Amino acid sequence: MKLFDSHAHYFDHKFDTLEGGAHAILTSPEFADAVSHVINVGTNPETNRRCIEQTAHYDFMWCAVGIHPHDCQHLDQTPDAVLAELYDMIRDPEARRRDKIVAIGEIGFDYYWPPVNKELQREYFARQLEMARELDLPVIIHDREAHGDSFDMVKQYPGVRGVFHCYSGSDEMAKELLKLGWYLSFGGPVTYKNAEKVRRAAAVVPLDRLLLETDCPYLAPQPYRGKINHSGLMSCIAEMQAELHGVAFEQIASATADNAKKLFNIP
Ligand SMILES: [Zn+2]
Repeated sequence: MKLFDSHAHYFDHKFDTLEGGAHAILTSPEFADAVSHVINVGTNPETNRRCIEQTAHYDFMWCAVGIHPHDCQHLDQTPDAVLAELYDMIRDPEARRRDKIVAIGEIGFDYYWPPVNKELQREYFARQLEMARELDLPVIIHDREAHGDSFDMVKQYPGVRGVFHCYSGSDEMAKELLKLGWYLSFGGPVTYKNAEKVRRAAAVVPLDRLLLETDCPYLAPQPYRGKINHSGLMSCIAEMQAELHGVAFEQIASATADNAKKLFNIP
């Protein structure tokens, strides 16, 4: 049974180190057997353009564009200029259909890598949530070491829906986010030996709010840890979710695909 990868970065230059690059992976028979859909997620003005361009080549791929909290700290242009360009990319529904843009992402807070400019991250996060509200688009949230601030921020935008990708907060916060209508997505880390906290959180997410992802080329699941990740390696993530929820692999596969299609409005 095929899986829906709700978060990938196939434009990442890490794939260029493989023979044939990302294209070789995306067109392999093993990939076609294992994967039904991919959401390709941009992170800054340059990767957003690469992301849209690449997505056009694959029937099974859709994309999200946005300004990542880490990337926003390394841009030459002002927030006004960057966000105006993003808005131009996504404001017209016809253009979104043409470019297969289904969400704003990834956006959020990242307090992991110094230096951290919280004020600038907050400005980008808030203004992209406002765009999502105005355009009625779902968002993909990146929250790294910033759980309290991320939760407080999304609470201020009750009309905005979306997913916390690669969820790493507590099971308590997961329950609160679920109450507010959020989806939670889990990738490779749920399979890691020392990831009891992530598994505890995954276990409280009902099947109708769960998504699967790779975040590839990063975060390969346990047997492939350290290697370049891709959507064809997701089955052990689904197996772990099946174990945590006490259901069959097929149930995880179909529920997570249904959820992603509903959230991103994909037929
Ligand atoms: Zn990502």
